[in-house]
Amino acid sequence: MNKVNVVWFRQDLRLSDHKALYYALKDAEQSGAKVIGLFHIHPSLNDEFTIRHDYFFRSLEDLVHQAADYQFPVHFITGKAEEAFQQLLDQDFTVQSVFYNKDEVGFGRERDQSVNKWLEAQDIQVESFVDAHIHGAEEVHKKDGGHYKVFTPYYRMWSSLDKPAVFSVDKKKLSELGADFTDQFQEGEEAFRDLLSKCTKEWKHIGERSAIQRLAHFLHNKVHQYEENRDFPAKNATSMVSPYLKNGVLSPRTVYHKAMEVKKENGGESKGLETYISEIAWRDFYNMIHYMYPNSKHEEVSEQYQGIDWNQDEDYFEKWKEGQTGYPIVDAAMRQLNTIGWMHNRLRMVVASFLTKDYLVDWRKGEQYFEERLIDYDASSNIGGWQWAASTGTDAVPYFRVFNPTRQSERFDPEGEFIKSYLPQLKDVPKKYIHEPSKMSAEEQEQYNCKIGEDYPEPSVDHKTMRKRAIEVFEKQKDS
Ligand code: FAD
Repeated sequence: MNKVNVVWFRQDLRLSDHKALYYALKDAEQSGAKVIGLFHIHPSLNDEFTIRHDYFFRSLEDLVHQAADYQFPVHFITGKAEEAFQQLLDQDFTVQSVFYNKDEVGFGRERDQSVNKWLEAQDIQVESFVDAHIHGAEEVHKKDGGHYKVFTPYYRMWSSLDKPAVFSVDKKKLSELGADFTDQFQEGEEAFRDLLSKCTKEWKHIGERSAIQRLAHFLHNKVHQYEENRDFPAKNATSMVSPYLKNGVLSPRTVYHKAMEVKKENGGESKGLETYISEIAWRDFYNMIHYMYPNSKHEEVSEQYQGIDWNQDEDYFEKWKEGQTGYPIVDAAMRQLNTIGWMHNRLRMVVASFLTKDYLVDWRKGEQYFEERLIDYDASSNIGGWQWAASTGTDAVPYFRVFNPTRQSERFDPEGEFIKSYLPQLKDVPKKYIHEPSKMSAEEQEQYNCKIGEDYPEPSVDHKTMRKRAIEVFEKQKDS
């Protein structure tokens, strides 16, 4: 019987710079095995199907097509983990080893542990790798072995470590060693086609080739101005690679090394590039924090803020979700999220601060809403970002420093360009009023085609009052 090495794809939907694939091919070459790709369709996918799933399955489809071009099919199994993997044992080939890139946190970590145990009990060798981050959760630590809680010293240590090289996958080997058992995985094929039939969005830039192109475009045209421009949502000055990184369509090692090539071309100096690399390190930092605080999706990392008296008023939460707060920058940002499944980083900070401080709504609700809406939803970065904004994380904004949404708007969208792109009812409102349209007189509302209370809401809360209240609530909690 054929011996087969299985590459279990999960959130690493690419064929380049892929550790598990690299090692599966290397091993197969030496041991005379064939190699197949595998994807496990989890039954929970029948319960929920959000924009994130739509994006994910289109990315997976792209991987399947690309792999097929190299005669390297990706097969599908379905059902609960063990029963799904049993399907592998029932085929007319022998599974020699399963190779995969591991999840270090959350549901994936637990799933990996139980599947590992099960595979090993069936005498199947398992090889798993840290691949989704430049440095895995355990790699960056203090000299005494303890973990960092604050980004700056973490980053200093992160920067001092040697960076892993790119794991280039030889596509010729992929064609030589790939084996096709499609006829034995018909049920899985059908389940995959069913999922694709639920995808309704038109994604223009899906898959590995688009990811590489987008990264190259950013590095060759924008990275040197990243430092000055990245906080201005209307400038389109960030790389927008987060959905690719999240689904593993792009490897963070590739991002790092491509950035380094550009640095070299630029004579070794670029503040923009340095800042960009540090952002990529934030991703590793939050993965490490999540690993160290496995319950942080549900619980404040900072114990002193566990049990805050959050506002239970659903009305506020609804207004925030729908972009009806009466603060244009917040509303435009929420509409960006609801429309394209992505939001600019500055705006994520603004809306998260607004929800947790101006509305005093529980950060968990915001975190959950982002999970439903973001195509780049990454539990670690999202929890980290929310706990940062809510002042409950390890390296959080102090609770008494509350973002003023109007000042943020004036500073980072001075002409109201971004606001107008998502709130067309404000398109004729001049710069003077774009950040606070409710200040227009009745005549001005007439003149600028925007009636407050009809076309656009009054501010739902007074920032000054709510800021004071939030600080009091945090102080009370701290002293309790
Ligand atoms: P760039 O500015 O081009 O940065 C490049 C890459 O660096 C990003 O793609 C991302 O992988 C990483 N990065 C940048 N900033 C951060 C950061 N603060 N934390 C962690 N990684 C970072 N990022 C996610 O990928 N998924 C999330 O679910 C997520 N939720 C967030 C929630 C909140 C409340 C906040 C404040 C931030 C969140 N972020 C999240 C971080 C950040 O907003 C996005 O990574 C960034 O906006 C993605 O756009 P970009 O690729 O153009 O970023």
